[in-house]
Amino acid sequence: MTDTLTDLWFDPSLCLIGGTWRPTEKTLPLENPSDGSTIGVIARGTSDDIDAAVTAAHEAQPAWAAMPAFERGRILTRLGQLVLEKVDTLARIEAQDVGKPLSQARADAVALARYCEFYGGAADKIHGETIPYLGGYTVYTLREPHGVTGHIVPWNYPMQIIGRSVGAALTMGNACVLKPAEDACLTALAFAHLAAEAGLPDGVLNVVPGLGAEAGAALAGHPGIQHVSFTGSVATGAAVQQAAGANVVPVTLELGGKSPQLVFEDADLDAALPFLVNAGIQNAGQTCSASSRILVARALFDEVTARMADAYQALTVGPAMEDHRLGPLISATQKKRVSAMLEQDTGLTCIANGQIVDGAPATGHYIAPRLYTGTDPSHELAQAEIFGPVQVLLPFDTEEEAVRIAKGTDYGLVASVWTRDGARQMRLAKALEAGQVFINNYGAGGGVELPFGGVGKSGHGREKGFEALYGFSSLKTVAALHG
Ligand code: NAD
Repeated sequence: MTDTLTDLWFDPSLCLIGGTWRPTEKTLPLENPSDGSTIGVIARGTSDDIDAAVTAAHEAQPAWAAMPAFERGRILTRLGQLVLEKVDTLARIEAQDVGKPLSQARADAVALARYCEFYGGAADKIHGETIPYLGGYTVYTLREPHGVTGHIVPWNYPMQIIGRSVGAALTMGNACVLKPAEDACLTALAFAHLAAEAGLPDGVLNVVPGLGAEAGAALAGHPGIQHVSFTGSVATGAAVQQAAGANVVPVTLELGGKSPQLVFEDADLDAALPFLVNAGIQNAGQTCSASSRILVARALFDEVTARMADAYQALTVGPAMEDHRLGPLISATQKKRVSAMLEQDTGLTCIANGQIVDGAPATGHYIAPRLYTGTDPSHELAQAEIFGPVQVLLPFDTEEEAVRIAKGTDYGLVASVWTRDGARQMRLAKALEAGQVFINNYGAGGGVELPFGGVGKSGHGREKGFEALYGFSSLKTVAALHG
């Protein structure tokens, strides 16, 4: 381990099963994407490790579920406090593990704390109903945990995704087995250490890092798992759903998108500009809800194009710990993938790009952000999830055309509309196919309170907000005949 990870206060090569941190038979190298250096090793969990974790979770779950809801909530709230106390440490760890610029990594750590606070506070506020029924009956509903839930998390926003899925699952009395991404698992391990410190009983949270094809597949298909939450690619999500389907287990899938922002001729451009750009380049474009398509009314097209191009020229890319607007991509594999997509698609015009800073290590996985214009929405770059810092500007002539282009991909995660026309705002909020629609903003600051998820190939099920608590529980109807 080099001195770049001096913030780590735990051994990252271990996995957590039943309250015990233990080694796995093999390990995987841990890379810093900012310079490509190996900065340690992490556990490479096997199907046996997953099996042991599921068993431990089953042993711990009944007592956790039986604990009064407000006491579970207190532990979550205390965990949020511990996360807040370690925000800067977590940010530095994440920056070195994910390549995320330091201030963006810090925002993720704050969001993780907010999830713990929100769900901690909500733990005793999820109630059933009484249902008026036939004479002689009393009917009511109970919200019960699924039991043991599996959480397969990607590398782009580990802290936020753990907060929204594991946080909600724990709150409802489930015990969890978490499989973080092989490219970025340090903050998952940190979270588990803090959870133990907050008083989470042994076995309620188990963490087994490892490869997708090994630990991930073993978790998705394990007969002891009673709900699977997955965030990542469409292909892997489909495989996870199939594996869970064999056990007839519910699955929440969050699979990314090709999210549009629609800019109408009456938009407040000064307000829109920062959102138009940032939504595409945040986390170097490696964001499921990235806005990679900007659809602009023809009357404004030249002005928006020119102003976005200016903004792009000022974008800097560099080492995460130096906190530039963009850091590197997560890995050489992702850089190769994105570069290949950019080389293949020659139908669009690249009109501006940002700069990789002088001195950025050649061994880091940097890619300069690129802004494209075009007229044909069917181009690969305007259709596929790139997962890199790339945006495409397309013009439209009518509202109908704008909606048609917006709906013209396989995805439907989020969308945004920039217009001062109130009737149009309402029409488009209904017409657009997405799990979230934003009016005159993009992302609404990412609030933990706001249900989130997709339609189409963006997935199904909702996380965040109270919806996640419904998703991580099942409803039992009790009908008592008493005469
Ligand atoms: P991936 O979907 O393969 O990996 C995501 C998670 O799933 C990781 O924890 C991985 O270990 C696990 N996994 C992989 N194969 C598995 C399997 N067979 N069974 C169970 N779990 C498995 O994503 P990736 O290969 O890291 O990235 C590829 C592309 O996926 C990206 O370029 C991007 O387009 C997309 N992606 C989307 C998101 C998102 O937030 N929606 C996140 C990461 C990646």
